[in-house]
Amino acid sequence: MNDKNLTVADGRVVRIEYTLTVAGGEMVDSSAEEGPLEFLQGAGEIIPGLEAALYGLAVGEHKQVVVTPDLAYGEYDPDNVQIVDLDSFEEDVELEPGMMLEFFDEENDETIEGYVSEIQPDGVVIDFNHWLAGETLHFDVKVVAVRPATPDEIEHGHSHGGEHAQ
Ligand code: ZN
Repeated sequence: MNDKNLTVADGRVVRIEYTLTVAGGEMVDSSAEEGPLEFLQGAGEIIPGLEAALYGLAVGEHKQVVVTPDLAYGEYDPDNVQIVDLDSFEEDVELEPGMMLEFFDEENDETIEGYVSEIQPDGVVIDFNHWLAGETLHFDVKVVAVRPATPDEIEHGHSHGGEHAQ
């Protein structure tokens, strides 16, 4: 399946190993935890700034990629927070700053994630920004495999490899 001569291009399924570091040098994510990341190049499966930097890389190649927030998870929006009444949480929930919670957004009929940013006497400040919003991301990437996508993958707009097949 793996063709050593293929480089990263649209319509190819790419597998990368990576570490992700934010300003200050803190490593926040790494493929060492869940294994290499596989995706269909050109389909927007990964953040735009990383996808753009991978074109033309061959299997075995390493690259340092710096991605500004506009090409990653967006700028931090200070208005994208809400104060939720303490009464609206189940009594047995132990709220802690940093805790990720799911909310149902009735307006858009979808589930959204937010995290507890502050607990006040009468309410909880929930932040709906992505936890990496506003961060400049430093990736250390290595391409470990490239193969042509199957017609199904092209049609679906995502990779069917690994355990994430669907
Ligand atoms: Zn699919």
